[in-house]
Amino acid sequence: MEIVKKLVSKDNSVKYLLKMEDGNTIETLYMYDGQLKLTYHSTVCVSSQVGCSQGCFFCATGKQGFVRNLTSLEITEQVDTCVSYCREMNLMPIDAVVFAGMGEPLMNYENVKEAIVNIYEKYKIGNFEIATVGLTPKIDKLISDFKGSPINIRLNLSLHASSNESRKPIMPVTSKYSIESIIDAAVKYAETFKRKTRLRYMIFKGINDTELDLQRLEALLKGKPLKLIISAYNDNNIKGLTAPKQSEVIDFYNKLKDKIDCGIFHNFGADIKGGCGQLRQENIED
Ligand code: SF4
Repeated sequence: MEIVKKLVSKDNSVKYLLKMEDGNTIETLYMYDGQLKLTYHSTVCVSSQVGCSQGCFFCATGKQGFVRNLTSLEITEQVDTCVSYCREMNLMPIDAVVFAGMGEPLMNYENVKEAIVNIYEKYKIGNFEIATVGLTPKIDKLISDFKGSPINIRLNLSLHASSNESRKPIMPVTSKYSIESIIDAAVKYAETFKRKTRLRYMIFKGINDTELDLQRLEALLKGKPLKLIISAYNDNNIKGLTAPKQSEVIDFYNKLKDKIDCGIFHNFGADIKGGCGQLRQENIED
């Protein structure tokens, strides 16, 4: 894999644009938590597909369409690149690999699974996270494949709306898998692995940050083994979407925090186009 671009952020994150043998490019993000605030301090965010078929309205990768799945080797090579960087810079070894780059990892299930096992065996990295729009049959498969395994996979479901009606326009997958079925799968996953499942909620100013959203989120999540992680939409110039101010994100969080388990997500590498697909999109448009 060839490094086409390497951007180093003020927060020490590094974003790579990598070119594969067939000329396709993907993004990989290395996230360094120098202040030791988060669970994992040295993390790689990998891509699992070139492009993506899910068409989430807010996503730069979704706009590019689906090209192909990555092989398990191409996924592992992204981790190899970041391991080399950490060694060169004398940073702490990588402690987690997150599938939250380009693509929907559960649409490339077998290669993602093989890569997880390879990375675990090669580097003894035992912590993984899969970010998904909520393909519930594949969540069931993850449960049956990794139950009892020493490999720890945290599930991170993209919710981003509080009703099916409001989620469909921004996440078309909702027509296939309803919010209720996704939450059922998330609860089952949490109960199996005895660890709360995370649900991501990206705030789009004026769209999903109303009083009604707060009420619906409370009704959906209260008392369940789930944690809502709230963040600002990482602005990538998509028409009709506005990023909230950080104070508005905090305000939304404050209104929920005594009702359901929730937290605020840190956007790594905002100054180096840390949101998924942005760097590749810019290169395509060059
Ligand atoms: S957010 Fe994820 S699943 Fe949705 S279009 Fe983007 S890459 Fe695909």
